[in-house]
Formats: sequence, C-alpha cells, structure tokens
Amino acid sequence: MESIKKGLKNLVWIQGLTCNGNSHSFLSINDTLLDTFLSNINILYHPILTSEIEFKDVYKRILSGKESLNFLVVEGAVSNKKNEVFFQGFDVFEILNNLKDKSDYILAVGNCACYGNFPALYNENVNGLQYRFKDKGGFLGESFKTKSGYQIINITGCPAHPEWIVRTILSLDFGYDINLDNFNRPKDFYMYLAHDGCIRNEYFEWKVEAHEFGTKEGCLFYELGCRGPLTHSPCNKILWNEKSSKTRSGMPCIGCTEFDFPLRSKYFETKTNIGIPEEVPLGVTKRAYIMLTGVAKTFTNQRLNKKLEDTD
Ligand code: SF4
Ligand code: SF4
Repeated sequence: MESIKKGLKNLVWIQGLTCNGNSHSFLSINDTLLDTFLSNINILYHPILTSEIEFKDVYKRILSGKESLNFLVVEGAVSNKKNEVFFQGFDVFEILNNLKDKSDYILAVGNCACYGNFPALYNENVNGLQYRFKDKGGFLGESFKTKSGYQIINITGCPAHPEWIVRTILSLDFGYDINLDNFNRPKDFYMYLAHDGCIRNEYFEWKVEAHEFGTKEGCLFYELGCRGPLTHSPCNKILWNEKSSKTRSGMPCIGCTEFDFPLRSKYFETKTNIGIPEEVPLGVTKRAYIMLTGVAKTFTNQRLNKKLEDTD
C-alpha cells in the first residue's frame, strides 16, 4: 500500500480479541468501492493492508499531535482490565484510553467489538466498546461520545459486510449525518431485516416449509431456525460477494447482527410450543401470527408445493 497521502482523512484499524473475520470481510469489498474508499480515506494503519509502516510509529505520531486521527476502527472484543489484550505489542486498554478522545469517530466493527460476543462469554472483563451484549456501558461507558458528538458506531455482524463498513465511513467522510438505532447501528443498513428481499418470501407467506438445507424451495423459518424475520440486517438487499446470502442459498439466518447471537442454542431448529414458534416475526403479535399462518395453510398455493423446476 502507498504511504500517507496528505489532505485525506486518516483511519487507523486496530484489533482486540478477534478471529480477523472483519478484516477478511473488508478485503472482499468490490473494486469500485475500494477505489472510492482509498481515494478518500488514508489508511494510516491496518494490520494486513499496510505493510510499509509500523503501528508503533503511527501511534507515536498521533499521540504527539503530528498526525490527526479521524476514524478509529476497532475489530475484536476488548478488556476493561490492563494487560489482558494486546495489539502489536501495546495493551489495547492503553491504546483505547489514549486514542478515544483524539479520534473524530470510533467504529466498532463486528459483533465482538460491538457487544463482546463469544470472547465475552468466557471472561467477565471482556466487553464491546460501548455494550456488553444488550447492556450499554462496555469499555468506554454508557455516555461516552467522540469529538464529533457521535457515540461508538456499531457495525454489527459476524462478520460485518464490507459495504456496511465502507459506506458508513464514506458517508461520514462526505459530511452526511447518520442516524443510529437503539444499539448504535446505522439505520441506513440495520432498519431492514434479513427477511426483507429474501427470495423465499412467498414460501414464508404461504407457510411452505423447507425440510432440509440447500434446497431452492421452502422457507427456513418454520423448522430450520431461520431468524431472518427477527434480525436487523440488509443481507438480502446488499448481497454477500454481490451474489447471494445465506437464505438464498438455503441456509437459515442465524441472527449474527444481534447482541444475543452467541447466547442462543440450537441455531438450526425452530423452537416451537404446540407447533407455534416461540419467537414470531418482529412487529407481529403471536395471535396475529397464528391467525395469518392458519389462513395461509388453509388456502394452499399449489405452485409452491412443487419443485421449482416442475412449475409451469
Ligand atoms: S428463509 Fe428466512 S429470511 Fe427467507 S423468507 Fe424464510 S424466514 Fe424470511
Ligand atoms: S443472513 Fe443472518 S446470519 Fe447471515 S450474515 Fe446476515 S444477519 Fe448474519
């Protein structure tokens, strides 16, 4: 990667407890968006992307005021205790405390940085930047705001989709205000449900179940645990690798953009009570759900009960 370009906003990407999934996701951004991103944002440091510069030098320059910091991106969970999580030889506890008031914006990328996620299950000191699962607080505290007035911007997902990351940063860089939801996620992306735009919606409406993974037919909600109607994410509007999504390829949504992702058990089965799902789609009462699905089941749509290849 080229070294520092003057006049652009600076971004530093650091990591806590992470599998690198969000970095890998980020690297799969399409060429056009990557070009736009690199033409507008100066990546001062990223553990994989920047090779000519060491973190310690960038860190020193920011601390001494020789370099400004506009976007601090954090991937991975962090610890509220010193000497537990390290990045490039520095205690992440110290890095965050030293940089939190220097950066215009701080983005938590991926569920570990947002909520603590799996690493937080095993260590009570481990947190997301401003949440621990559903509880606000986390590492930086409930009321923390960056210089720009924004709280931590959570780009959730396990991993987060590269477009959600890049478009959020570019929107801020271009001077647009972004609205955040109750979990500090940009509404432009997270006001949608994974269910929105799923090619299986017709099967959902007529209550035609899929009985196994990978089929073209059927909805995965009724037996296979799909959480599309309960999960805030635009996975069926902004496709993965610009081609597909879990549900399009016959795999249930496992709700990876929500705080409770690692707290659930049995990801691939629908928990039911006398045949009725324990959790019904967001915004629908159980009573309405029972009435609607009962009617749908009564008036079978014959077309949807055939293999797609066999339909006229
Ligand atoms: S498979 Fe999941 S996302 Fe798709 S229509 Fe069914 S419930 Fe919705
Ligand atoms: S479809 Fe569901 S599980 Fe898959 S990436 Fe989107 S939110 Fe996560």
